[in-house]
Amino acid sequence: MILVWFRRDLRLSDNTALAAALETGEEILPVFIFSDNLIESEQFGAPLTHFFFESVKSLQQNINFLGGKLCLRRGDFQSELAKLIAETGATQIFYNSDYEPNAVLRDENITQFLENQDVKVKGFKDQVVFEKSELLSGSGTPYKVFTPYSKLWWSRLLEMPNPLPRPTTASNWYKNEELKSVEIPLLSDFGLDISAYNLQVEAGEKAGRAAVNSFSEKGALYKTDRDIPSIQGTSFLSAHLRAGTISVREVVRHFNKLKAAAITEEAQTGYFTFINELCWRDFYFQILHHFPHVAEQNFSPNYDHVPWNPPDEKFEAWKNGKTGYPIVDAAMRQLNQYGWMHNRLRMIAASFLTKHLLIHWKHGERYFAHHLVDYDMAANNGGWQWSASTGTDAQPYFRVFNPTAQSEKF
Ligand code: FAD
Repeated sequence: MILVWFRRDLRLSDNTALAAALETGEEILPVFIFSDNLIESEQFGAPLTHFFFESVKSLQQNINFLGGKLCLRRGDFQSELAKLIAETGATQIFYNSDYEPNAVLRDENITQFLENQDVKVKGFKDQVVFEKSELLSGSGTPYKVFTPYSKLWWSRLLEMPNPLPRPTTASNWYKNEELKSVEIPLLSDFGLDISAYNLQVEAGEKAGRAAVNSFSEKGALYKTDRDIPSIQGTSFLSAHLRAGTISVREVVRHFNKLKAAAITEEAQTGYFTFINELCWRDFYFQILHHFPHVAEQNFSPNYDHVPWNPPDEKFEAWKNGKTGYPIVDAAMRQLNQYGWMHNRLRMIAASFLTKHLLIHWKHGERYFAHHLVDYDMAANNGGWQWSASTGTDAQPYFRVFNPTAQSEKF
């Protein structure tokens, strides 16, 4: 029997670990574990946690619909998995890999612990198109600059596997009514409160697919529309990609087909530009994998001695959207109210904090992490270090976004 451990892949369609487990023909048991330690670690905040809990609910309903049961546990990951193995006699665990340094360490420890008990543990690539060292430069080193990375990424895109089958029945899945499964916890159990936010994205796999469909036509205009914060010119897929309620491969395949079928140059460029953003997403994941120090430190040590200002009342003004610069304030109020911020505004707000107020990017990065419904360490860290010019392939330190010119232009 195989435990399929769901983490940030909360869907049934095109899910690598799930499909691989089903392919073996063995019985499977889908599992999700709520870890108090992780949720209370303050690595992320109420919007992301809410989106995850709602997506787990939707996954649970989708599995129920097939006649199966998602086993929910609450506690320490390793102990809960060990208990489940003892209770069910499972001999293998399949999961989709995570690339954040803490998660990598956790998975290595759990793997070692369980393999010592003769349980086979297998991680799969799922949340990215290309992972780890799949795309290396000619000299075998990781790319630090986006353009050559993206050229290789595009040239190998057709290597992407075909969509993996979505299970249509759970008739041979593990069933034991006695097996304990907890209720989905409340956010308040962890001291989190979502009531201050007016989230604009609906959780779950169905909503993820709907977001793809509703962006299909708009994608043709993405090249120009994506830069205008006052219109809905982007896909709003980020939270779905974060929680895995949509497969990144499915998104790429879908828009690549639209790109191939597009007649006008504008539409071709629109779809190309959109898919290229998913390439940026992969790029930052491979940066995090090869250079895990970026999670805590500057990518480039050249900037380790910048005399940053302390996060004082100016930081408070920035957080609360009260700097007096309208576009910066609108950006921060969008974040505080909707748990999401337009990409152009993320760049402007991040530039303002680091280059006008000279406050270390880490403070801004943490603030975004607590409020973003789509918080993802790789992209957030990449975006912050790009804006602060401390990162890989970042904008040069002397380039400072002028908030007034940005308001006028966008
Ligand atoms: P779209 O424009 O429709 O893009 C489609 C998808 O491409 C996004 O959903 C996302 O998965 C990916 N993408 C787009 N831009 C980028 C980028 N620059 N880097 C990496 N991936 C990208 N994105 C996050 O997903 N989580 C974050 O925590 C995050 N923090 C950011 C912080 C800063 C300071 C900056 C400058 C950018 C950050 N981004 C982050 C990237 C980007 O702003 C968001 O992905 C985007 O605004 C989400 O809205 P969307 O889905 O409508 O994007």
